[in-house]
Amino acid sequence: MVVNIKDNLNKIKERIEIACDKARRSSNEIKIIAATKTVPVEKIREAIKAGIRFIGENRVQEAEKKILELKNEKVEWHMIGYLQKNKVNKALRLFKMIQSVTSIDLAKKINNSCARNNQKMPCLLEINVGKEPTKAGFLEEELFESLDELSKLSNLEIKGLMAIPPFLEPEEVRPYFIKLREIMEKVNEMKIPNLHLKELSMGMSHDFEVAIEEGATMVRIGTAIFGPRE
Ligand SMILES: *Cc1c(COP(=O)(O)O)cnc(C)c1O
Repeated sequence: MVVNIKDNLNKIKERIEIACDKARRSSNEIKIIAATKTVPVEKIREAIKAGIRFIGENRVQEAEKKILELKNEKVEWHMIGYLQKNKVNKALRLFKMIQSVTSIDLAKKINNSCARNNQKMPCLLEINVGKEPTKAGFLEEELFESLDELSKLSNLEIKGLMAIPPFLEPEEVRPYFIKLREIMEKVNEMKIPNLHLKELSMGMSHDFEVAIEEGATMVRIGTAIFGPRE
């Protein structure tokens, strides 16, 4: 199958513009995170040439190879997949942001490793908005129980929330996007030190327009840029 990455990206940008107009937002508020799991380096390079500046990888080992090969490119790498605790140190060296902080234990582990390295790490808290047993992430009630502890993890820069809602028709996903935004608003209203959230990483190839209408600041897009994964 012939895939034209530049054309795909242009189409996505047009769709983002339309969604932003509809929501009376500026498209400057939206970052496209190219989700590149299983995508070979040559295709990623093409996407970078076409204007991609943020790349999301799901696995530390796969990312490590790609980051080495693309080390001269001006892009930011974000971890968006499940992070095993024994991979935290490596992840801290490779990524500019960890979007997939799925539990208080992982948050503490990242914070401790950061403290040892004398570094800070921008993070998003991943919320299991669909309460799906097969998915990782904070349940809403777990998040609110963990806020005090999270606010004390001074080597984490907690910038916002991320979610992978149930895979449904875009309009059926809307309530989950609304839910994530409402959780963020609720946290912000509590005015807890170190917990001023503004990023909402939500929306993928099939539902990013709805996510943008509901406040997404980062959309993680794979298939619509690169075509179906092998
Ligand atoms: C693969 C992936 C995406 C992108 O999915 P597409 O449907 O291909 O756009 C987004 N977020 C995460 C966490 C992913 O693993």
